[in-house]
Amino acid sequence: AKVAGKNCYRFYSRAMDQAVERRVRMEQELRGAWERGELSLVYQPVVRLSDGKLVGAEALLRWQHPELGMVAPSVFIDVAEQSGLIEVIGPRVLRAACAAAARWGFEDDTLEKPFISVNVSPRQLRSGDLPETVAECLRETGLAPGRLHLELTETAVISDEAHASALLSTLHRAGVKVWLDDFGTGFSGLSHLRRVPVDGVKIDRSFIADMLRDPDDLALTTAIIAMAHSLGITVVAEGVEQEGQLDLLRERGCDLAQGYWLGYPVSAHELNQMAS
Ligand code: C2E
Ligand code: CA
Ligand code: CA
Ligand code: CA
Repeated sequence: AKVAGKNCYRFYSRAMDQAVERRVRMEQELRGAWERGELSLVYQPVVRLSDGKLVGAEALLRWQHPELGMVAPSVFIDVAEQSGLIEVIGPRVLRAACAAAARWGFEDDTLEKPFISVNVSPRQLRSGDLPETVAECLRETGLAPGRLHLELTETAVISDEAHASALLSTLHRAGVKVWLDDFGTGFSGLSHLRRVPVDGVKIDRSFIADMLRDPDDLALTTAIIAMAHSLGITVVAEGVEQEGQLDLLRERGCDLAQGYWLGYPVSAHELNQMAS
């Protein structure tokens, strides 16, 4: 048993070394990825449930590495966050997304211009210069502030509620909208919505995934919609993959939805064609 234990330990330690090595390598590779043109943005449609119209899109970062292939955002965003690289990549993403959105839907003046949602990581939130970066991007691209939505995770906001509230107020004064992402997973309860000034919540896709077969998930989704509406907050359901989910969400009064059923993330050009 002792020998096996020792082997086991060796095995795990080697596996751990490899995991650390992979992370270090990934961090090195990620450092020059933007300059090498390996990072790009795709845009996932956001649809209004009342009339099925495309009203906005979420910018999602993609990393195509020549050897590693397509690296999942859940993996490399974490590396960028831990290493601090996100403070360089984040503002670039924001600028690129604003620039793309500024060009959308201008063929037809009568159309509402779609909004652009950009993910902001906890570290960007803490760094302090977010309002300045946002103002700069809006100035440079000419995007109307009301068309920019920033998605912050529920956990990042509640971990430092005082700081987040002040920051959100500054962003609001600039005319930018703030959304809470992955809502419902942070166990924060809905009471935070009263203290933190947000314009919308995105119900986490884990609830949407199960809402047709798990009464608890349906009850929670329904409660989030009702509570948000009573506070004047807009609700997006993310990860809608089936028509049944969409019908039920519409019936419960959910405002907007996003998911593979409604549209996969596409290039800026493709989204522009969908929007016009
Ligand atoms: P998120 O902000 O919750 O983004 C939604 C994720 O759900 C995206 O994954 C999207 O492709 C995926 N998705 C959309 N519809 C469906 C669906 O119907 N079913 C399923 N199963 N998935 C769906 P993606 O692009 O892999 O991004 C993962 C996470 O990486 C994002 O989660 C976000 O937290 C982070 N991320 C992506 N781009 C950025 C970025 O530019 N900046 C920061 N800070 N984080 C980013
Ligand atoms: Ca998001
Ligand atoms: Ca989300
Ligand atoms: Ca469940």
